[in-house]
Amino acid sequence: MPPIPDLDLTRDALSTSTLSHGLHLMGDRWTVAVILGAFLGVRRFDEWQSRLGIPRQTLTERLKALTDLGLLRARPYQERPPRYDYHLTRQGLQLYNHVLMMWAWERRWGSRSLQLPQRLVHATCGHAFVPRMSCSACGEKVGIRDLTFTLKVNEALRAVPSSRQRAARLSPEEGTQMGLGLRVDRWTLLIISAVFLGCHYFDQLSHVLGIGSSVLTRRLAGMVDSGLLLCQADLNDARRKIYRLTPASHDLFGYIICFSSWASRHHFNEPSSIRPVHKGCGQPFVPQVICSHCDEALQPWEVVAEGA
Ligand SMILES: [Zn+2]
Ligand SMILES: [Zn+2]
Repeated sequence: MPPIPDLDLTRDALSTSTLSHGLHLMGDRWTVAVILGAFLGVRRFDEWQSRLGIPRQTLTERLKALTDLGLLRARPYQERPPRYDYHLTRQGLQLYNHVLMMWAWERRWGSRSLQLPQRLVHATCGHAFVPRMSCSACGEKVGIRDLTFTLKVNEALRAVPSSRQRAARLSPEEGTQMGLGLRVDRWTLLIISAVFLGCHYFDQLSHVLGIGSSVLTRRLAGMVDSGLLLCQADLNDARRKIYRLTPASHDLFGYIICFSSWASRHHFNEPSSIRPVHKGCGQPFVPQVICSHCDEALQPWEVVAEGA
């Protein structure tokens, strides 16, 4: 039987993590898709709409929310009627690590119908590459197994009202129509994090995530169906089911860690309540995403996306 986690600490750490707060602001799939589009060079309303298949009203709301968050900047290109180009701000460009990791994950595990680039080329070294996470402190390439996590509730993050600019809920029907969409959303990522932190049973997940049982039941079943969780009978107690991560959900940690780190360092300016340490060098882990060919850090303007 897996060790029993400290459920109250895990619940408090998850709810005050920069992952959870950050996902409240921009974890819905449309917002993520709009950000991905911006990194692929989409600038205008109509282009986003046609590439994402996003309803006009939803797109208007998401662009406004991202502009209010300081991640996009609107520049008028026509006076009458007023029309705008949207550009990533300096703060928005800091999301690149997380976008690269998402891209890598979607290429490997996501839906094949996504309109994502087939190939990323690092202009600096001239080679096609796969983005890899490395440790900013020592430069070593790092996977989830090279990290340890300490839970320490950051009280400053309790004060962040979780409903502030809360992203609107996405209906399941909406999700299936997206051209540039992703199949991971806020709850998916939080459930995966809770399982990773040692919560393997339904009652544990319900306790630490505060999700009602019918919603959690539906969520877990959906994640099992899409290969993000394994559900097995518990050998010690056949009435209980045990949930485990799959290779696909393990692979999401690059994305989860890069996003948490961005939210912590570039948005909330507070350490997360879930703190990764690189086992190899003993330093707090700050991710850097590097080129698999030349090991250099990747900048958005040095990467060419082919076949998008
Ligand atoms: Zn290190
Ligand atoms: Zn390179």
